[in-house]
Amino acid sequence: MKYQSYIETPIKFDKKTGLGNCQTLALERRYSDMKSMYLDEETRKKKEEQENIVVYRFYDLGVPQKDSELSFGTSIVYPGKVGKEYHMTNGHFHTILNTAEIYYCQAGYGMMMMENPEGEVLYKEMRPGEVIYVPGRFAHRSINLSSTETLITFFTFRSDAGHDYGTIREKGFRKIVVDNNGNWEIKDNPRWK
Ligand code: MN
Repeated sequence: MKYQSYIETPIKFDKKTGLGNCQTLALERRYSDMKSMYLDEETRKKKEEQENIVVYRFYDLGVPQKDSELSFGTSIVYPGKVGKEYHMTNGHFHTILNTAEIYYCQAGYGMMMMENPEGEVLYKEMRPGEVIYVPGRFAHRSINLSSTETLITFFTFRSDAGHDYGTIREKGFRKIVVDNNGNWEIKDNPRWK
């Protein structure tokens, strides 16, 4: 029997980089991939023209998208800000809406921002060694609250959950997180539809 990489356990996750030894890059987002995601679109555009650096990356192990499987891997959000807003992921609902997800913070300091279609909002800080449970029905976005450290989280979710990025791209999240003299602050998103 030919074993696939993800069941050749144990998979070693490097404590510094957060990367598993047989992961592959699944997704990479630069400023140019985040149009209208930040409140200060003008600054985002400027940053796209000037440097267009990578804001975040996902690595996974190519687990088949079946309801019997669990996808897992690493999410990495690099430090920085666009205007007053911290670097973050675009965020998504799961296509099968009522499917949960686990995030385990390996390094850095961040926040998980969550909201469901009924308008309930949850937000949780993340520090190394802490686990965040994202309940089913909740869209989720990782935000890097550190100005210097990379936010590294390990995630796992039901493999067939799927990703609905479009809803957030159109509507945004109800709340945004901005820097206020070195502290984070939650604000209503004036662009939320
Ligand atoms: Mn997810």
